[in-house]
Amino acid sequence: MTSLRADRTDRADRAYRCVECTHRWYYTKPICPECGSDTIETYDLDVGTVASVTVIHATPDGVRSPNRLALARFDGVGVLAQVADSVDRLAAGDEVRFADNYVLRETDAEVITGPRLVAARR
Ligand SMILES: [Zn+2]
Repeated sequence: MTSLRADRTDRADRAYRCVECTHRWYYTKPICPECGSDTIETYDLDVGTVASVTVIHATPDGVRSPNRLALARFDGVGVLAQVADSVDRLAAGDEVRFADNYVLRETDAEVITGPRLVAARR
């Protein structure tokens, strides 16, 4: 078990699990949204399944356009993430995983990097 405070890396391929009630979630929260416990551990996301895909053309400053996104269900959590340009097409039911490191958003104030979703090949 790792302490959330000691391990706030916010990696895109990592999710959170409450040790007290086993609730799982994706985006960083200091306490469990179900029971309020601050005893939290992280776990790595492996292979997920695409629920839906979309393309956003009106993107925030510093985000690629068009921005291809997929909503995918991983072990206990749903994740909305950018799809790698190398992926020709994803559809509901396809298996995906996070890979590599990309500039996800770049502005004068910040550069956000992280993995994008790619087709999972086992
Ligand atoms: Zn909990």
